[in-house]
Amino acid sequence: FSGHLQADDEADDIDNDEADDDDDDDENDEDDEMNELNLQINGLTDEVTGLGQVAQQSMNLAVGLTRLGVRKGDRVALCSENRIEFWSSIVGTVLAGAVVTTINVTYTKGEIAHAMGISKPKYIICSEIAYKHHEKTFRSLKHVDKIIVYGEKANAVSFNELVTKNEVKPEEFVPVDVEGQNDLAFILYSSGTTGLPKGVMITHLNCLNTFCFPKIEPPFHPIVLNVNPWFHAMGLMAGLLALSSGRTMVYLPKFELDLYLKTIEKYKITVIQVVPPILVALTKIQINYDVSSVIMVFCGAASLRSEVSNAAQKLFPNALPVLQGYGMTETTLACTLNTNFLDPKPGCVGQVSHNAIIKIIDLKTKEALGPNKEGEICIKGGSVMKGYVGKDRKDDFDEEGFFRTGDIGYYDEERYFYIVDRLKELIKYKAYQVPPAEIEAVLLEHPEVRDAGVVGVPHAGAGEVPRAFVALQPGASVTAEELQKFVAERLSNPKHLRGGVRFVPEIPKNISGKILRRKLKEMANKSKL
Ligand code: AMP
Repeated sequence: FSGHLQADDEADDIDNDEADDDDDDDENDEDDEMNELNLQINGLTDEVTGLGQVAQQSMNLAVGLTRLGVRKGDRVALCSENRIEFWSSIVGTVLAGAVVTTINVTYTKGEIAHAMGISKPKYIICSEIAYKHHEKTFRSLKHVDKIIVYGEKANAVSFNELVTKNEVKPEEFVPVDVEGQNDLAFILYSSGTTGLPKGVMITHLNCLNTFCFPKIEPPFHPIVLNVNPWFHAMGLMAGLLALSSGRTMVYLPKFELDLYLKTIEKYKITVIQVVPPILVALTKIQINYDVSSVIMVFCGAASLRSEVSNAAQKLFPNALPVLQGYGMTETTLACTLNTNFLDPKPGCVGQVSHNAIIKIIDLKTKEALGPNKEGEICIKGGSVMKGYVGKDRKDDFDEEGFFRTGDIGYYDEERYFYIVDRLKELIKYKAYQVPPAEIEAVLLEHPEVRDAGVVGVPHAGAGEVPRAFVALQPGASVTAEELQKFVAERLSNPKHLRGGVRFVPEIPKNISGKILRRKLKEMANKSKL
């Protein structure tokens, strides 16, 4: 980001030198035109913010944070719903040389403590909503030194004051130097192939590879609607991509069907970025708004059924076929993309993007496979994370430096990729990560539970829902509903046991005690929802 902002400043200097010869009106017209292309619009309140304002606020914040004590490499947690200050909080933190770690605002106390236990932020920037819900949790964490809140709150530093009292001229601003390949810009969270959520280390170079290298721009000015939560890689990185490429982005704090459609009509949205459950929801209703402006529908973060994809295209009279991308938190954003806008192959997630090399390996022999053969997808390249916090790279990368994704797929003769299954235990509920190990750990806290195993069962609207298999202690009397409630009180909404609880005498395991999840899936498929 630092490089990018400097480059923009240089570009402004050049523009200004040239404009000095012109009259003032021309200069203003040019400015207006530039601003029109760089707008961030809150679709709920219609508040409009130019890229220049975001950049200025970011620089002010970087100065403010430095004066507050933030130093290179410090971790700053950001816990907020989608709102405009989110972007300057990120860019400002990174310009100050610190590392941003985004925290889901709907997390429970235990989930926050787990995530922050990995990244150990010294500072937290949060919205009023996050502060209201999580102040106690934040203050209970020993590594947290200061809390910065978007509004005014007693006992907390005011974000507004921090940015207004540390106004800096762009030409005088110097970002903290970073070493792109090593220094982190983000720590995000993903459970990877197994276990509890881990800290995904995203470097500055990962970001440059994702946002600044040649990218495919549609042949019209994109007005993008982004409703995905920004704490998650897809919403976050897609938002930063829009910001760094001068696209107009309309955003909403959360997905709500009527408001979503109203926003498309109002702002004549041309590009929508969605996760599959949004398309499912749209296909289930009568659309009473003018959505003819939509030309491109980008979908990712979970598998999309072809019936949904076909039905979704028909909803938008002028849209091209739905374009799928494939990626994960560990690859910063997409590592395969569909650039064949007019005629994408059905069900495919596109071809390898500019910043990646992909191989498909045989599950047993680990040999790289040719076309049309299913195996594990392994990725190497400029956007692949440095590793997980505190974990040996050898656990997740092979000897050639490829990251093992835990996804199963294949490519055809023309090198178009298809995702067919997941080797890893991760469940995706409405594209949110649901690590079974997290739910199992909570179930095991219950005194009447002897053992537990959780798997995803297919669900038309949500993709998958988690179901628990539970072995009880002798003489236990706890009911399925009580266990569902027990989990719901301790974990955030996507992790609730919507797939139900089934009691079994034993959880199937191999001789080293590892849960046989395939076996549990077979059992799940035999019993209805
Ligand atoms: P996350 O890190 O939360 O974005 O989750 C990444 C995981 O979501 C991948 O490893 C895949 O299992 C799944 N995923 C992402 N994109 C797709 C896609 N287009 N089709 C099927 N699964 C996907």
